Amino acid sequence: MFNVEKIRKDFPILKRKINGCPLIYFDNAATTQKPAVILAKLRRQYAFSHSNVKQGAYRIAEETTQKFEAARKKVAEFIGAGKPREIIFTRGATEAINLAAYSLGRRLKKGDRILVSLSEHHSNFVPWLRLAREKNLKLDIVKLTPEYNFDWPDFKQKLTKKTKLVAIAHISNVSGFVYPVEKICKEAHIAGALALIDGAQSAGHIPVDVRKIGCDFYAVSGHKMLAPSGIGALYGREEILEKLEPFMSGGKMIAEVTTKNVSWNDLPWKFEAGTPNIEGAILFGEAIDYLSKIGAKNIHKYDSELLNYAFKKMKKLEFVDLLGITSVRRRTGIIPFNIKGIHPHDAASWLDEYGVCLRAGHHCAQPFMKHLGVSATLRASFYIYNTKKEIDYFIEALEKIYPRIR
Ligand code: PMP
Repeated sequence: MFNVEKIRKDFPILKRKINGCPLIYFDNAATTQKPAVILAKLRRQYAFSHSNVKQGAYRIAEETTQKFEAARKKVAEFIGAGKPREIIFTRGATEAINLAAYSLGRRLKKGDRILVSLSEHHSNFVPWLRLAREKNLKLDIVKLTPEYNFDWPDFKQKLTKKTKLVAIAHISNVSGFVYPVEKICKEAHIAGALALIDGAQSAGHIPVDVRKIGCDFYAVSGHKMLAPSGIGALYGREEILEKLEPFMSGGKMIAEVTTKNVSWNDLPWKFEAGTPNIEGAILFGEAIDYLSKIGAKNIHKYDSELLNYAFKKMKKLEFVDLLGITSVRRRTGIIPFNIKGIHPHDAASWLDEYGVCLRAGHHCAQPFMKHLGVSATLRASFYIYNTKKEIDYFIEALEKIYPRIR
């Protein structure tokens, strides 16, 4: 059973006051807060077990390596990967996508095409744009519907035999729309392309099963699902990862080095050069344990409740501009909006006085902003510890600030 009051007790930051007001954290699409159990285990790991991994024949090195590899198994199971060796630890979704862009990019040739959508986060846009420029590839961009959802007919039209990769987000970090990734991957494969899904906003928010989705790559962000900063993962299908060149070179990713030659380590270590974020990975595993106890389906259901509740209330405020998005269908708890006549940065500063944390900016999606015809928006985004009472408070704060700043 989903018990938000019990969950809230696990998050020390929620006891904080800002200007004597309760802290209302609605910037979960940027990063999530951390439960006390994660913070305590992080401290314990550093205090009593810290060592490097994949080397060292002593007790704490073995313990740490075991925990590190156990975390990899947890990530694999959580997103439905077949084998832990298909999970590469990275600094986050950004590094995961850059890894794929570098390694896949070496196999692409002049004239090959890559297909992304207009709403992609820069992390899933700029690496492909750079690659296209450097290698003379063509970057095709799927349009959005008038309501800013994924334009399926446009996708079908732009997917050609020359398309070698389709790179699309599972959930837009601006609109919260859940894109039809199963269908996207199926069509990509029929056309002979590989499919990479950016799961930064989906893993830990909705149930994810990479084998059911049928993608070749899936990027995950640990810090957006309760784990510490600087940890994430790239899922890659084993047979593809086997064929790819490593991303970074150095220690731990080699099998043998001579003065003239080098051979690569097995998967997944071939892609993990240098000392990884050991504690981050171990605590990513703990975060997954925490989320698994609640259950991905329950998290999704609760998120939808918050979205419905907030969207209904926000629709009634005549000074709130919901940017043309009219429904909550196939969306998660991310609401972009503006306050009429007020710059989003000013609005966010005023809301901060009431303890409400909202993102104001372009959300690392400038092509999307340009399409919306704005340079920035406000964005409220929810997670498991948010409540309807907090949404009521946020609505009251909006009602209070509007007459003062207009
Ligand atoms: N893709 C999307 C859709 C995102 O929302 C984000 C984070 N805002 C990223 C990629 C980048 O993730 P990370 O911070 O883990 O690098």
